[in-house]
Amino acid sequence: MTTQSILAIYAHPDDESQCAGTLANLAADGALVTLVCATRGEVGEISDPALATPETLAHVREGELRCAAQAMGIGEPIFLDYRDSGMDGTPENEHPDAFMNADADEVAGRLVQIIRDVRPQVVVTFDETGGYGHPDHIAIWRHTHAAVAAAADAARFPEAGEPWQVERIAYAVFPRSFFTGMRQKLVELAEDTSDLDRFLELGIGFADERINAITDVSGFIEQKFAAIDCHKTQFGGDSFFSRVGDDEMRRMMSREYFVFGWPEPESSELLSELFP
Ligand SMILES: [Zn+2]
Repeated sequence: MTTQSILAIYAHPDDESQCAGTLANLAADGALVTLVCATRGEVGEISDPALATPETLAHVREGELRCAAQAMGIGEPIFLDYRDSGMDGTPENEHPDAFMNADADEVAGRLVQIIRDVRPQVVVTFDETGGYGHPDHIAIWRHTHAAVAAAADAARFPEAGEPWQVERIAYAVFPRSFFTGMRQKLVELAEDTSDLDRFLELGIGFADERINAITDVSGFIEQKFAAIDCHKTQFGGDSFFSRVGDDEMRRMMSREYFVFGWPEPESSELLSELFP
């Protein structure tokens, strides 16, 4: 039996959080789980000035991702060493090392090498909207698709080893029903929903009808919370996530949602795992 191998390709430390339970579960089941992170998230916010300064943030967030990888029970993350591009329209976008400006062939070459080394059947990344439109998230989606195609083509990057055909690209997403369900819960608890309402108006959440797989990670929820807890510089204050209460939070976080981005899914049947 061939070993299951899954490769998660993300832009920043903490991007992996929404599939952390699935990665932990697969690692515990003996799959090879590899996490690639294009940047160190050095332009991100700092929740508490005691944790980092803008100068130390890259180093601190690298440590946070290593901590998360350990919590998930996977190997050391692979950093591509690009610079965080910051949010859309910020001056950080102009930086020559910003990931969003990276040379497509250069990124593809790096990713092809990793794909041919770890031979994943499944690659997980962001969807085409980048979750919430961060330019690095959209960039990693684009480069991942290009690299998966190039990895299978013997004529591309021959120095990177034997071609490897990935079988599926999956996007970890939050469906719209995740947020409408959360809103319902907040209403029941008589909590304020105004910030969530604003996001819902902006169209937060992925179309439910496009979800192809939902994984049950209730058995790995402690590992998932431990992994998320590593990203201390990224803790928002009073987010709507924290207002639903511990039990509801645990219930909501016990399921992870995936859209199959490539190839086109053969059926609309809702699956409970990622491997073909
Ligand atoms: Zn990110």
